Amino acid sequence: MLSRRHLLAAIVLAVASPAAAQERLKVLATFSVLGDLVKHVGGDRAEVSTLVGPDSDAHVYAPSPADARKVADAKVVIANGLGFEGWMSRLVRASGSKAPIVVSSNGITVRKAGASGEADPHAWQSVANVKVYVANIRDALIASDPAGRDVYQANAAAYLAKLDTLDAEIRAAVTAIPTDRRRIISSHDAFGYFQEAYGIEFIAPQGVSTETEASARDVARIITQIRRLKIPAVFLENVSDPRLMQRLAQETGARIGGKLYSDALTSEKGDAPTYIDLMRHNVKQLVTALAS
Ligand SMILES: [Zn+2]
Repeated sequence: MLSRRHLLAAIVLAVASPAAAQERLKVLATFSVLGDLVKHVGGDRAEVSTLVGPDSDAHVYAPSPADARKVADAKVVIANGLGFEGWMSRLVRASGSKAPIVVSSNGITVRKAGASGEADPHAWQSVANVKVYVANIRDALIASDPAGRDVYQANAAAYLAKLDTLDAEIRAAVTAIPTDRRRIISSHDAFGYFQEAYGIEFIAPQGVSTETEASARDVARIITQIRRLKIPAVFLENVSDPRLMQRLAQETGARIGGKLYSDALTSEKGDAPTYIDLMRHNVKQLVTALAS
């Protein structure tokens, strides 16, 4: 039997294996979708942590003291920007971090939403935009860890190729839906970039943030639209309360088409533990509900 002391030594040796000999780059992503992108680009060289986890709503997130410590520990922080993480600048100040904060959506064409014309932050709902995110993440990791340049470039290139395949898959899948049925209701206005990229119209009672609830007037307007446009399905979201959608379905006879993943991945056991899974899941749900 190993003594406690020997056991400890064995653990220390195991941890100090060649892979861990060189310290990994500590990267913090603000929410689950970005965390997945960073893991693909960072590979074995990066130790990725995430602030807003699976099935959680970043719009209304309240950071904890543990989050401030995560920010303080990170060598580089990857954010979405476009007003998505309204709590971020305060958190960074509180943490005392000097790490670069990289806005991974930099360079995309920003969609303006609603009457106020505020920026729509959900740019990851278009695969073309995510290719811009990945390039920004790659460049940020290289800037923080120049010795890893070749690794980050190779990882990013491999993942970008997968994104091209995904984009083609989505376009092919949407063609199965008759043009006059390419219209659904979702809880909040999170699919504007998907709509522009792939040609399915999303109508939502709630705006681009979940911070404000839909008003009685918004709900009445949506009910009229569902009836007038004969919208076949309403969808639930993993980050939104399902009750409003259930009520809309009851009042209009539109069917509940399933659950879409808008602003967060699921846990490992769910349908969408990665970004690519998320997009595939959403498209499958849309095609199933709308194609017939
Ligand atoms: Zn959202």
